[in-house]
Amino acid sequence: MSARHDYDDKTLSPLKRIRLFCLDCMGGSPGLVRECRDLSCPFFLYRMGRAERDEREPEAPEHGRDEAVAPARPLRVIRRCCMRCAHNDRKAVRECGARETCALWLCRFGVRPRTVEKMRARRRRPKELTLPGLEGFSPRRK
Ligand code: SF4
Ligand code: SF4
Repeated sequence: MSARHDYDDKTLSPLKRIRLFCLDCMGGSPGLVRECRDLSCPFFLYRMGRAERDEREPEAPEHGRDEAVAPARPLRVIRRCCMRCAHNDRKAVRECGARETCALWLCRFGVRPRTVEKMRARRRRPKELTLPGLEGFSPRRK
């Protein structure tokens, strides 16, 4: 993990997370991230912390084309990367233990951390009990 960043920081944007991931990939060297030529990597167009245009010629080789030519939203690209990392196993992504070591961890579901919190809170909220024949009945009503 980069010593300068707390990956648990919920204010980090998806683009910033990708940037940090790339820096980790290149041993913390911004120069090596800039010079990266791995066109097959889903993060290639985002490695500088912004979504870049693909400057390759239309007749560029197919290698990595679907991921690098048409930029998707960064969160979607993170999800794709996590699924690839976990060999397409959703459960493995959910249970990934790299909270402190992977910059992508908080965004591994392809949504912002706050959205995950809201979804979890909604799931924990007690559900109203509906008995047969009493649909629409509320004990609070007189
Ligand atoms: S684009 Fe991919 S290969 Fe290149 S630095 Fe980022 S993570 Fe590493
Ligand atoms: S968050 Fe977990 S699943 Fe996603 S890239 Fe990092 S280590 Fe892999």
